[in-house]
Amino acid sequence: MSSLKSFILNPTGHFDTFGGRYVPELLIPFCDDLHRAFFDCIRDKKFLRELEHLRETFSGRPTPLTFCENLTKHLGGSQIFVKNEGLNHTGAHKINHCIGQVLVARKMGKKRIIAETGAGQHGLATATVCAKFGLECVIYMGRKDYDRQRPNVFWMERLGATVVPVEEGDKSLRDAINVALRDLISDPVDTYYLLGTVCGPHPYPVMNTYFQSVIGREVRSQMEAQAKTLPDCIIASCGGGSNAMGIFHDFLDDKNVSLVAVEAGGKGITEKKNQCDHASRFETGSVGVAEGFKSFFLQNPDGQIKNSHSISAGLDYSGVGPQIAYLKSIGRIETTFALDTEVLEAYELLAQKEGILAALESAHAVAEAIKRAKKMKKHQSLVIHCSGRGEKDLFITAGKLDSENFKKFLKEQSKHE
Ligand SMILES: *Cc1c(COP(=O)(O)O)cnc(C)c1O
Repeated sequence: MSSLKSFILNPTGHFDTFGGRYVPELLIPFCDDLHRAFFDCIRDKKFLRELEHLRETFSGRPTPLTFCENLTKHLGGSQIFVKNEGLNHTGAHKINHCIGQVLVARKMGKKRIIAETGAGQHGLATATVCAKFGLECVIYMGRKDYDRQRPNVFWMERLGATVVPVEEGDKSLRDAINVALRDLISDPVDTYYLLGTVCGPHPYPVMNTYFQSVIGREVRSQMEAQAKTLPDCIIASCGGGSNAMGIFHDFLDDKNVSLVAVEAGGKGITEKKNQCDHASRFETGSVGVAEGFKSFFLQNPDGQIKNSHSISAGLDYSGVGPQIAYLKSIGRIETTFALDTEVLEAYELLAQKEGILAALESAHAVAEAIKRAKKMKKHQSLVIHCSGRGEKDLFITAGKLDSENFKKFLKEQSKHE
């Protein structure tokens, strides 16, 4: 295959040994139907027009590319730009694949959308598009997350979704995924499983990369307009990999553009038995099969998945998308990690120099940019992917950066019922 760009969207869903469709036989017809529907949709001009229309009039695209004059001066190296996906409706890039998938689901005649969510961001974006399209929406959450993420549960319920706490197993995200899959198996005709990143069985990684690739296409034309050149480097945070694939995809064949995915380094690259202090799959993970696809996972030698840790919920995940694993294996992308402490510093620096409150996920990309920009030349340019805005992290950032005042505030609030 001559073009990496088209290989990454290839209709087999295999990327060398990565990817595939490792699901129970009962789910193969669902995957086949989805495959057919997706590839039909993206050949259909009417579908593409509607997608474009929703991006403009509902999501708020194109999102801006902002030159960071102060940060550039402060660091004294390359020119720094931010692609600000945080200005999308619902505050992150996740809406891109939610809009796309809900259009495909409607085309398939589905009546009911299900999803699982950890911190709630994916559930929120899913509930949003279901409200917009008048579809029933059921969101599964591990009981622990359900209790911890009360504000997001509240928002999903306001949007009309049913949020179901999952009581089995560890009551974690993995248990919520299992329950959601069982739901899908019990009703594969009317139900659609809306997946929140570039993971899962084929065609999900290909489909979500396709819907996210609008980000990189916009960056290309915005860089050409603003800087008359392509960037030398693009940096994105990497949980499952959807915001990274979205901004990287259009540049895969531009060999002079280096692409960097930043994983969560958490408290450091150390671990106890089944609990990692990080979510850096490329640091201590290995190749395995879980949740329907083959890729890198944090796992023990028996293939049992280990728990991850990150200050940012969106990166706190033990697996990574198969296309990311493939691009790393052929050396097209670099991977690295940022520690929780570096992330908080980066978050504050971007806020104070540029007036942008980044999501903690995105602040991982900012942290890496701070390290790199200094080493680059003044005529070079670097794009930071700000995948989301930071308001959602209020309880974490306030707890870390202004704990005493915030506790006092919450105590006061709880008095005024
Ligand atoms: C969910 C999320 C991520 C991580 O998911 P990817 O699939 O790796 O993009 C990153 N940034 C934000 C703002 C998120 O909400």
